[in-house]
Amino acid sequence: MADIINLLPDNIANQIAAGEVIQRPASAVKELLENAVDAGASEIQLIIRDAGKELVQVIDNGKGMTETDARMCFERHATSKIQTIDDLFSIRTMGFRGEALASIAAVSQVELKTRQRGSDIGTYIEIDNSAVKKQEMCQTAEGTSIAMKNLFFNVPARRNFLKSNAAEMRHIVDEFIRVAMSFPQIQFTLTSNTQQLFYLEKGSLKQRIIAILGQHYNSRIVSVKETTDYMNVNGFVGKPETAKKTRGDQFFFVNNRFIKSPYLHHAIMNAFAEMIPADSYPLYVLFIDVDPSHVDINVHPTKQEIKFDDEKLMYAFVQSAVKHALAQFNVAPTLDFGL
Ligand code: ADP
Ligand code: MG
Repeated sequence: MADIINLLPDNIANQIAAGEVIQRPASAVKELLENAVDAGASEIQLIIRDAGKELVQVIDNGKGMTETDARMCFERHATSKIQTIDDLFSIRTMGFRGEALASIAAVSQVELKTRQRGSDIGTYIEIDNSAVKKQEMCQTAEGTSIAMKNLFFNVPARRNFLKSNAAEMRHIVDEFIRVAMSFPQIQFTLTSNTQQLFYLEKGSLKQRIIAILGQHYNSRIVSVKETTDYMNVNGFVGKPETAKKTRGDQFFFVNNRFIKSPYLHHAIMNAFAEMIPADSYPLYVLFIDVDPSHVDINVHPTKQEIKFDDEKLMYAFVQSAVKHALAQFNVAPTLDFGL
């Protein structure tokens, strides 16, 4: 009987793997923004055309790449961020899987321009369907610009699954806001079809929250801050009066990574119990810092779910930190209430 098993060619393997990481334009937005943050950028521009279906481009002023790295970064499992499995448990970068650029390159046309800090000349690379189409030296600003064009041009079935421009744009803005919220010390802009949607100057977390979620929060958020040996939490919650019937102003980050945690959401809602109507949601923007050895962020390719080694402790800690913040505010009501 003939043998029937063969190894898939790289570009097909990459296309399959890409399905986990790159589902829609917004997935690329997240990955490219995180790479810019990891590169130590202080200014990051996101440029979108046709809700990301035509173009998602991120330009940063980070450390840039050498000519060899500029080529390497598109290989699968190619990363500068970890070297051993132990590194996984002391991760301080947003990335570590070395899959994003390989995935993006497998399902789009990519143009990369990069110049390392201190280097005179940069590298330009064009990739199509995982294959290098062009590589040359170029003049370019220090830092990196990556343009992802025509997402899923080579996987029509997936391209057809993309939603309306309005829906895809909402996902993009969500991802943009999540990254921008957790790095207020970095300047971010978002331009969509030549219209500038966001210009976020460097500033404090409070300034960033107001710039993103609205000026009306200016005197209506209270600071949360609590520390133990195990972890610390800081950030802001909205005063009870600002709770809304709709969701959208809730952000929870662990070691600067946006995560979705119904469990911790519950802890916060519990802290607000009786202060707000049962069917409404308070603003929260909370950052938990914990030794990376206490969390496993590698439970899902998009890293939005994580596991804590002691979930109950986390719940109790978050709840009490929010309660304390709210209690303080009750003891000393601000003037906009009394007058
Ligand atoms: P990961 O972020 O998990 O390492 P990626 O596929 O996103 O994997 O990127 C691969 C590598 O390419 C990174 O580890 C980094 O060394 C390099 N890289 C990617 N984007 C940038 C950037 N904007 N600036 C500098 N280096 C980058
Ligand atoms: Mg990455």
